[in-house]
Amino acid sequence: MSARTRRVVVIEGEDAAPEAMRPTVRLLEGLDLDLEFIHPRVGQAAIDAGESSFPPEARAAIDRSDATLFGSTSGKSALALLYLRWGKQTFANVRPARYRVGYRSPMAVPEGIDFAIVRENLEDLYVGVEGELADLAPLGLESRTAGRPLAELGPGRFAIKVITEAGTDRVARFAFELARRRKARGRPGRVTCGTKHNMLPRSDGLFLERVERLARQFPDIEFQSFIVDDLAHRLVADPRRFDVVVLPNLYGDVLSDAAAALIGGLGLAPSGCYGDDYAYFESAHGTAPDIAGRNIINPTATILSGAMMLSHLGMADAAARIEDGLARVYAKGDCLTPDQGGSASTTEFCEALAREL
Ligand code: ATP
Repeated sequence: MSARTRRVVVIEGEDAAPEAMRPTVRLLEGLDLDLEFIHPRVGQAAIDAGESSFPPEARAAIDRSDATLFGSTSGKSALALLYLRWGKQTFANVRPARYRVGYRSPMAVPEGIDFAIVRENLEDLYVGVEGELADLAPLGLESRTAGRPLAELGPGRFAIKVITEAGTDRVARFAFELARRRKARGRPGRVTCGTKHNMLPRSDGLFLERVERLARQFPDIEFQSFIVDDLAHRLVADPRRFDVVVLPNLYGDVLSDAAAALIGGLGLAPSGCYGDDYAYFESAHGTAPDIAGRNIINPTATILSGAMMLSHLGMADAAARIEDGLARVYAKGDCLTPDQGGSASTTEFCEALAREL
């Protein structure tokens, strides 16, 4: 191991996720890069060994590493994910939606779809504060829309949506800087913001206001904003117009699955979560429990997440090799997984990709 060796923690996840992660790691190992893969015990493996699902050794391994490749979790590895996200403050979740020839897109003309959603990753409703409406009674809050005291609405629950100035500024800056890097590669250099500031003028209004303020520091990047429901329509009706789309957490979560559908499905959608000091990479899809154990999960999303990781670690040439190899496999189209209309197993797909590399 040299001083330049990059350490990558691998957490395989649950259900079908390991079936995509294992061949991805083999593929990366096969590229003969200066990478060391570390497999700490997390989730069920740790529980089986009599440990907690996220033992201190796993946390220490993450702290010593340069990045984590994370397989989706159904809950068993959730503590590790919470640490990767909130512990490591990975505030920008980048979810590219880029069509490649051969992807089974439902669009009549999918060519040219190439945008990236930048989802704020730590705030919004995901701060995880919920409770009984009755607990709010002492605050004497009034529903602005119903024009009645909350207490009169009857039994129910609430969730808190948090938008902070600093949290919005950092994800907005990330989005504009991403647009700048993409512009250098020939993309239009455009950031689009989506919020529901008409209904939520204070919280979503603040998000929009801070993004607008950041936009003024990036005169070379075009900026536009839409109410998020209008944006959802536009993303489907005219996806080629979009380049970088910056969104609060919940809208980003929802719209990035829709974005995946535009290009051909969840099996094709990678993601990277970036903070100031750390980044981790995972497919945008869940654990696909319905196809677990069948060796048919499409590993493309996980492999592309691995390519995003390589770029982050300064190995852009290797990332481009993987992307070009995948493009050739899809363009040939004779060895695709069932979600893409093929009959190849995950293993066969990965063998076809290995031949292209
Ligand atoms: P989560 O709540 O974690 O997002 P979920 O069960 O709602 O999980 P997914 O696990 O993403 O959602 O699966 C949704 C559907 O898409 C399932 O039918 C699943 O089999 C399919 N799917 C997801 N990822 C892939 C993939 N990589 N290859 C093939 N099918 C996939």
